[in-house]
Amino acid sequence: MWYGFVIRAFHRLKTGATRVIGIGSKRRHGRDPCLCAWPVCSNLDRMHSRSDSRLVPQRLHRIAIIGAGPIGLEAALAAAQAGLAFDVYEAGRVGDSMQNWGHVTLFTPFSMNHSQAGAQAILAERPNDPLPSGDALMTGADYVERYLLPLSRTPLLHGRIHTGRRVIGVARKGLLKQEAVGDPNRGGSPFLLFLDTDSQGERLVEADVVIDASGLYSQPNRLGPSGLLAIGERSAGALVKYGLDDITGKHRDRYVGKRIALIGAGYSAATSVVALRALVDEHPETHVVWLTRRDSRQPIREIEEDRLPARRVLAKQANAIARESHPRLKHLRGTWVERLEPTQDSTVVVHSVDPAGHRNRFEVDRVIAQVGNRPDRSLYEELQVHECYATQAPMKLAAALLSQATTDCLDRMPTPSDTLCNPEPNFFILGAKSYGRDSSFLIRTGLAQVKQVFTLLADRRSATPAEAAGTE
Ligand SMILES: Cc1cc2nc3c(=O)[nH]c(=O)nc-3n(C[C@H](O)[C@H](O)[C@H](O)COP(=O)(O)OP(=O)(O)OC[C@H]3O[C@@H](n4cnc5c(N)ncnc54)[C@H](O)[C@@H]3O)c2cc1C
Repeated sequence: MWYGFVIRAFHRLKTGATRVIGIGSKRRHGRDPCLCAWPVCSNLDRMHSRSDSRLVPQRLHRIAIIGAGPIGLEAALAAAQAGLAFDVYEAGRVGDSMQNWGHVTLFTPFSMNHSQAGAQAILAERPNDPLPSGDALMTGADYVERYLLPLSRTPLLHGRIHTGRRVIGVARKGLLKQEAVGDPNRGGSPFLLFLDTDSQGERLVEADVVIDASGLYSQPNRLGPSGLLAIGERSAGALVKYGLDDITGKHRDRYVGKRIALIGAGYSAATSVVALRALVDEHPETHVVWLTRRDSRQPIREIEEDRLPARRVLAKQANAIARESHPRLKHLRGTWVERLEPTQDSTVVVHSVDPAGHRNRFEVDRVIAQVGNRPDRSLYEELQVHECYATQAPMKLAAALLSQATTDCLDRMPTPSDTLCNPEPNFFILGAKSYGRDSSFLIRTGLAQVKQVFTLLADRRSATPAEAAGTE
């Protein structure tokens, strides 16, 4: 089927040149298994199967882990327990993404968010300081404080987590992306990681294995039609907030008495609209317009007999807000943002359009963009990674997920270990990033992925002697 394409062209006044920034389809693709579920196992992956005698011995002792979120730290723990040399490179702080939405309560209980190994490592250090109970629903901040930080300080991990070091790119030493395709010796040269560090400037480090657990939170989706930027979105700058502010808590001054446009219909938007609803009642001079692309008076997905009670309550609260007619909180359904027009008074005029082509414009002090996140693929653009062209997840994993008949994260089945392999030998994308634009990832999935990858590595390492050397 042909979908009309939208091309956003930005005119350069000085040069008269036009630069195309992005192309999006005007209608969303439905699920299309024949596009994504085709067999994707490549010869390169087969070269790394245990039984393949052509596999050249490789050094697999130095592991570089990108990101100190729950999955990066779990990978670090697994590396330490396997006696491997490892370094974790973290752009911000330990658990940085979660700290950014620290006021939000996780839907999943603590029992689903930690591993046995992690709990044991912490308790070995702090026997008199029990961990939260398995059924505890913790905020992101509590989870970082009571689990991720203590884990990062255990002797197993201590000194190997380098905060303030952003990985900008990963490549194969001495090889370009397009070279040594199908050549088993590609896995014989180490990875090179380009780091941007707070304290030492730019640096290159080497590793034998790279685990990219850098999450999705740093790459928000765009506000405009069909996934493109809205015109003016970039120039609106800080007037657009991507991610989750603590609207009734530490960021309330940004919202009290303001006119706000909230855009999105996921659970983050639901969290924000519930907080904004409380604010408009407390402060009658606050006004909110909530725009959802979904043309429904029930914009937040409610899962029948939801087994996560906190998720069920949140969805119901947000949908009730969408249905009520509140004088200062209005829901505009079936609506796209077309354009943001920043003004001289530090406000933004939001131009929206509905499918019938009716246009609307209103002025606000702040826009909250909660339209999801996408993986930062620039990290591995010099590597041979086969991505799904719909979800941008690694292809084999994406195909396995598409073949599962559910989109509820709780019902996601573990996928076979080989779905975590890429054509690039010993490069693994784990954690939230491994699902690409599919938002059904759970921490517990990532914990299982780590086990799978370290089992694979143990198999691959059996041919080579152990060494103790870091990646630095
Ligand atoms: C509001 C909200 C609520 C959620 N609730 C739940 C829940 O209840 N249960 C659940 O299982 N999941 C939940 N999730 C999903 C949850 O965020 C993920 O499951 C979890 O954070 C994924 O962990 P991760 O380690 O893959 O990525 P992240 O937690 O995002 O960690 C990635 C880390 O990598 C760092 N990083 C990024 N780029 C670079 C770079 N270039 N170089 C170095 N470091 C980098 C980041 O700073 C960050 O510290 C929720 C998500 C959100 C946004």
